[in-house]
Amino acid sequence: MKGTKVSLFAVLVFILILSACGQDVDNDADGESGEDDGNLTIGLSVADLTLERWQHDRDIFVEKAEELGADEVIVQSADGDDAEQNSQVETMLTQDVDVMVIIPDNSDSIGAAASQAQEQGIPVIAYDRMINDTDIEAYVSFDNERVGEMQAEYLVEEVPEGKYFLLGGAPTDSNAQVFRDGQMNVLQPEIDEGNIEVVGDQWADEWSATEALDIMENALTSNNNDIDAVVASNDNTAGGAIQALNAQDLDGEVAISGQDADLAAAQRIVEGTQSMTVYKPITEIASRAAELAVTIGNGEEFEADTEVENGEYNIPSVLLDPISVNEDNMVDTIIEDGFHDFEDVYEGVPEEERPDYEE
Ligand code: BGC
Repeated sequence: MKGTKVSLFAVLVFILILSACGQDVDNDADGESGEDDGNLTIGLSVADLTLERWQHDRDIFVEKAEELGADEVIVQSADGDDAEQNSQVETMLTQDVDVMVIIPDNSDSIGAAASQAQEQGIPVIAYDRMINDTDIEAYVSFDNERVGEMQAEYLVEEVPEGKYFLLGGAPTDSNAQVFRDGQMNVLQPEIDEGNIEVVGDQWADEWSATEALDIMENALTSNNNDIDAVVASNDNTAGGAIQALNAQDLDGEVAISGQDADLAAAQRIVEGTQSMTVYKPITEIASRAAELAVTIGNGEEFEADTEVENGEYNIPSVLLDPISVNEDNMVDTIIEDGFHDFEDVYEGVPEEERPDYEE
């Protein structure tokens, strides 16, 4: 018996050594080894670096990946152009990348470049937003349905009865629908009870603040300014909608949600013109994604928490927990975490009205 244990142990050690030796070998889809320059190069394709949120993701991801041993991270932003993102990814595939991490601008159309990568033996990780109908290696995100629930839960608590306007995100982003599903989990029972009336529902292309401003202006006009709450799916669109509310002297009167804990949104919350945001610790998602990218790029096994269906496939996924933030827990969350500085968030609030805070 003892002998059996020892030899099993030896076999295990042998397997571990073998898999460690496999690190430098490219994992081609056809099972053959490709050429490897010995370096670990990660491609990071970002949908749109003009939005504040993604700049944080990029910075933390690159820093963490390098800390974990990546030799190079090639970063490109498509600035909201779907076709451009496909061609940027295709170009990166010719630059000896070992793994591609993609934040898709369009969850459907990016499938073409993602499949090409996988066919070339370059594994793809979808970051924050899913890549639809494509057999990718992994998905790292937050529990996005929960994000939508948190937004609606907060508004329903503030405005249990009244007229709601639904302001969705980019229809091309798979997350936008998931946020809406979460919002409706909370809103539908209230609608059925007759507590809430939905007076309009529109989606802002590219999550654009200007588009959200136009949508909100029109919604206010067609409802004679009679709107009690706006279910905005992120901070950028909330910002646009709040400008429209402000023009009618309604900012601070109408409850409005958000997401991302953008600095401008955190400021609006403490100044009273935005009700809440959902903070998704970027350090966590960027670090987990960097860990996965390094592990997968080295051809090693990785651990997923769950699976998420992307239309055709079940993708091994890591889903992190979002945090609902309002005026009351601003300091304990976003500021304590070092995501934003106290001074920056409370810039527009007179000193005597600021909460106590010691760095
Ligand atoms: C992200 C949000 C972000 C939005 C716009 C979504 O996919 O999950 O955090 O606000 O895209 O960039």
